[in-house]
Amino acid sequence: MSVVVLGSANLDLVYEVDRIPAPGETLLSRGFAAFPGGKGNNQAIATARSGATVRFIVALGQDAAGDRLAAEARRAGISLEDRRTDAPTGTAVIFVDRHGENAIVVDSGANAALTDLTESELASIAAADLLVLQLETPLDTVADAAAAARSSETTVILNAAPSTTVPAGLLGQVDLLIVNEHEAAELAGEPDGTGERLPVAALTGHGCAVIVTLGAEGALVAVPGREPVKVPAIEVEAKDTTGAGDTFVGALAAALDRGTRATDLASLVAATEFATAAAAIAVQRKGAVPSIPTLKEVEEFRE
Ligand code: ATP
Repeated sequence: MSVVVLGSANLDLVYEVDRIPAPGETLLSRGFAAFPGGKGNNQAIATARSGATVRFIVALGQDAAGDRLAAEARRAGISLEDRRTDAPTGTAVIFVDRHGENAIVVDSGANAALTDLTESELASIAAADLLVLQLETPLDTVADAAAAARSSETTVILNAAPSTTVPAGLLGQVDLLIVNEHEAAELAGEPDGTGERLPVAALTGHGCAVIVTLGAEGALVAVPGREPVKVPAIEVEAKDTTGAGDTFVGALAAALDRGTRATDLASLVAATEFATAAAAIAVQRKGAVPSIPTLKEVEEFRE
């Protein structure tokens, strides 16, 4: 399976603190570490570790953070189509207190400069089996990429995260939409539409298949005109669910049958079962990227 991921990459700067600082307060950190992050980057790594051939379209700054992210992606076996911009590489400053509560500030930096797809980027999308998109890069670019994929035979997966208003018509260009419960409710314009009242039919009404991830409950797979199928999560002792969603999306992309369309329920359920196993491994480990399992680990876990 050849997959193009188009999306964000950030360097996550994580400070362990006794408490989240109050306005005007200066605190000493108890520890610091920098990790690769950003939904595009995490999903590209998850897709590659699950055995697919991955090309990652990304904008990075001409700085040490950009060099580090590029090197780590290449080490994961990803081929990069990276633009180097005058803007700095995206960063997220993350404070984590003793109770695991966090406060996060994201600077999109170079990610905001991923506009106007080049001929070469469009050709990569057209040549791929599958395109994976999220919403941390400019939305016009996401829409252009989806349209380019649609006019070739490239299957389009949109992980509509983080929650935001998507351009009109984008969902009509998508084969498979992956969202969590809150994103599903936001996207359908039904803020109370969670739990039993998930607005799945409103989303499949755009003509796309929909997978709603439900945390420790598992995931719901829905295709237009059919009853949704629930795939339960695998019961494990969760240590850190950071990145569970990105692991799920990447593993699912790698596991889908080539040429899957919105109505292929059997292929979608089979891929969801694989992604559920990958995410169950990830939640038992700390961190986002370090927790993403390889194909071999998922296969052994499923035996
Ligand atoms: P995040 O933003 O934290 O990465 P998310 O909200 O996008 O996550 P979730 O629905 O929380 O996504 O989780 C994605 C998938 O991960 C779930 O569908 C499930 O398969 C798996 N998962 C999440 N939490 C658990 C858990 N506690 N135990 C087992 N599997 C889990």
